[in-house]
Amino acid sequence: MTLRLVLFGAPGSGKGTQGPFLAEKYAIPQVSTGEILRENVRNGTDLGVVAEGYMSVGDLVPDDVIVNMVRQRISEPDAANGFLLDGFPRTVPQAEALDDMLKKLDSPLHSVVYLKVSHEVLERRLGGRWTCPKDGRVYNEAELGDRRTCEDDDEPLVQRDDDQPEAVSRRIEVYTEQTAPVLDYYRPQGRVLQFDGERSVEEVREEIVSQLDEVSKK
Ligand code: AMP
Repeated sequence: MTLRLVLFGAPGSGKGTQGPFLAEKYAIPQVSTGEILRENVRNGTDLGVVAEGYMSVGDLVPDDVIVNMVRQRISEPDAANGFLLDGFPRTVPQAEALDDMLKKLDSPLHSVVYLKVSHEVLERRLGGRWTCPKDGRVYNEAELGDRRTCEDDDEPLVQRDDDQPEAVSRRIEVYTEQTAPVLDYYRPQGRVLQFDGERSVEEVREEIVSQLDEVSKK
């Protein structure tokens, strides 16, 4: 079974929570452009140095940098049977570049999984977000109680620079202006599956799986 998916939604819509589950369930790699960039920042690579300035204030890294990064990643052997793109495409030119790439490989996208969440809920979620610097797992303050370590590896959790209030507002603004139009790009292709991302993690998960099971049967 092959499944090429885009996981789409604003920052804080639940992509980081649903992504690992879906990737495991359908045995496809999760390609998170934010994660790849953060790893490059941590390792001080040339790419990381370029990206950090944009990321820390909540702006987008230039399209050509991101498109090259994704092109390389999806040509790796583990992506031969599909992939889950998380955080990409984030602009219409990125979506067009992805379509071009996939057309050349004669392997179009199956679906765009869209998690819809209101701006109020996004701001609340991002403000209280804690992340494991080691495995990238995301926690919400409400679920953590007093705990500030990762359940997987006991690593102390951190708040990302771009989860600080000013960067959060900027990221939501960038989403509205530059990323939301990507949905209008995909809608006429009939590939968008929309979900209410304000429901519980389990409810959203079950809905996505029931729809993707249908898609993968076709
Ligand atoms: P994320 O973890 O997806 O919220 O991404 C964190 C940051 O990485 C974003 O705020 C951007 O600065 C950068 N980034 C991630 N993916 C992209 C992308 N597809 N295009 C441009 N910038 C990106």
